[in-house]
Amino acid sequence: MSWLATWWQDASSIPPYTTLVIDDLPEEVHSETIYLVGKPRRYWCAVFQCPCECGEIVYLPLLPGARPRWRVKKHQNETVSIMPSVWRHVGCKSHFFIIHGRVRWCRLIDRDRLEC
Ligand SMILES: [Zn+2]
Repeated sequence: MSWLATWWQDASSIPPYTTLVIDDLPEEVHSETIYLVGKPRRYWCAVFQCPCECGEIVYLPLLPGARPRWRVKKHQNETVSIMPSVWRHVGCKSHFFIIHGRVRWCRLIDRDRLEC
């Protein structure tokens, strides 16, 4: 099995993030949960633990007009997709998409080509 197949199998065996809608920023952030802060369809922030296990909490602004700004799509099975990708410029520098509650990692395959 190629390293990619092994990696993919590992990645897909991790359960997807569950989604929780809350009124205000969470005091505690559990590792398997994406918190959508605000009212349904008017979320202003998404909060979750960085999936690389560095322990950092990621805050993504969702308000129209915020820069940078992410969009969240909630699916029927209660998972979410977040667009565009999350690229941490500090700390672990992780780069990933959240699609249907699952993490899809991006990696630089050479100087200016990215694989997600
Ligand atoms: Zn991290």
